[in-house]
Amino acid sequence: MRKQRLGAIAAAAAAATLALTSCGSSGGGGGGEGDTVRIGIKYDQPGLGFKEGDSYTGFDVDVAKFVAKELGYDENKIEWVSAPSANRETLLETNQVDMIFATYTINDKRKERVGFAGPYFVAGQDLLVRADDSSITGKDSLDGKKLCSVTGSTSAENVRKDVPGVELVEQSGYAECLGLLEGGNIDAITTDDIILAGLAATDANKGKFKVVGNPFSEEPYGVGLNKESDKCEAINTAIQKMIDDGAWKEALDKNTEGTGYEPNAKLNPPTNFEACS
Ligand code: GLU
Repeated sequence: MRKQRLGAIAAAAAAATLALTSCGSSGGGGGGEGDTVRIGIKYDQPGLGFKEGDSYTGFDVDVAKFVAKELGYDENKIEWVSAPSANRETLLETNQVDMIFATYTINDKRKERVGFAGPYFVAGQDLLVRADDSSITGKDSLDGKKLCSVTGSTSAENVRKDVPGVELVEQSGYAECLGLLEGGNIDAITTDDIILAGLAATDANKGKFKVVGNPFSEEPYGVGLNKESDKCEAINTAIQKMIDDGAWKEALDKNTEGTGYEPNAKLNPPTNFEACS
């Protein structure tokens, strides 16, 4: 039942996109097939959303797979779509994806354009520095420093608002910031602690960087939806089920293993879901 209904919605959404733009759905490829679901994830955040060849891994991916299954979509019915920070609202508004699981912080500004289910995790904004740097210990030691973050992220916005005296360099993804940090062009990268931990722990980066470990925000990760979507309640039910049956913890442990990352135990697993409108 659910599967059919969602399929019909996906088809209708694709048709609407077609009608509006008269150039078909782009990016997802075959968004109107009816029995597939298009899910936006990050492709470049190890441990969260990561694409390597044809394989997609990470905590966001595991939560997305669990939720999709509960909505009636087996793994082979998922069409993964790249959802960089700056493109997420547009991807949802223009029906190029059905759901987004991409370290996507729920906030009021975004709620003007998109809907959210969840949260399924709560991260905190932190800093990544070179392993030998002891001059940066938190948000208050950033005066005169050069910081890299990503366009369209809450991380960049928070810095602009709360940390005057910092020079902010914006890139399209956090991996791009890493090159700048390693080369000495910037002093630190700022975004969510769990993202930074995943980046620092890859084989290529091991030993080069460290997460400062002094988070200064709360970043509740929601499932991004088109405002017209009627899937919010069903997604919240699925997330609750994932938490209750242990799959949530298993996925989180598996995807953060070896990174040294400790999720905030007071805020995780989340207990209060968004009111679906
Ligand atoms: N969670 C923050 C955000 O949604 C930062 C991570 C990201 O860029 O995805 O903007």
